[in-house]
Amino acid sequence: MTTKAVYPGSFDPITNGHIDIIQRAKEKFDVIYVTISDNSLKNPFFSADERVSLVQDVVGQDDRIIVKKCKGLIIDFCLEHQIDTIIRGLRAVSDFEFEFQLALTNRTINDQIDTIFLMTDAKYSFLSSSLVKELANFGGDVTPFVAKQVKKALDKRRQHE
Ligand code: ADP
Repeated sequence: MTTKAVYPGSFDPITNGHIDIIQRAKEKFDVIYVTISDNSLKNPFFSADERVSLVQDVVGQDDRIIVKKCKGLIIDFCLEHQIDTIIRGLRAVSDFEFEFQLALTNRTINDQIDTIFLMTDAKYSFLSSSLVKELANFGGDVTPFVAKQVKKALDKRRQHE
C-alpha cells in the first residue's frame, strides 16, 4: 500500500526550512502532496501560481512529490485524495499554540485525519518566509535561506518595484 501525506502551507516563498521538512517527510511516506494555499484572505507576496511553480522548480521532477494549489479546506483535499496524514513543521515554542489550534480544529472536523509534526533542523529554527521577504525587500542576501530559483524570483520582483 502506498503511504501518502499532505504538507500544506502558504510557501510565500518556499524556504530551506520547508525543503528540509519535505525531505524528511519523504523518508516516512511514499508520496508527499505539497499544497499551496490559495487563500484570498491573506495578501501574499507571490501569487498562488507563482508559489506553485517556485515549489515545483525547487523540488524538481520527483514522482514522490506532488505540488498542487489548494483553495478550500485541507481536510477536503485529504478526503478527495485519500490522505489521512497532515504534516506540519514546528520551529520554536512560538509555533506551538497556532499549530495546536489548527490541528485540533482539523481533528474536530474529521477525526480520521491526523496531524503529525516534524521538528525543524536547528539551523532553520529561526527561518521564516516573512523574514526572507523582509530581508530581500531591504536588499539583503537571501542566499543562505532559499534555493537559487527563489532568490532569482525575489531579485526580479525587487527590480520591478
Ligand atoms: P502557513 O501560512 O500555513 O503557516 P507556511 O508556508 O508559513 O504556511 O508554513 C508551512 C508549514 O511549514 C508550517 O507548519 C510551518 O510551521 C512550517 N515551517 C515554516 N518555516 C519552517 C522552518 N524554517 N522549519 C520548519 N518548518 C517550517
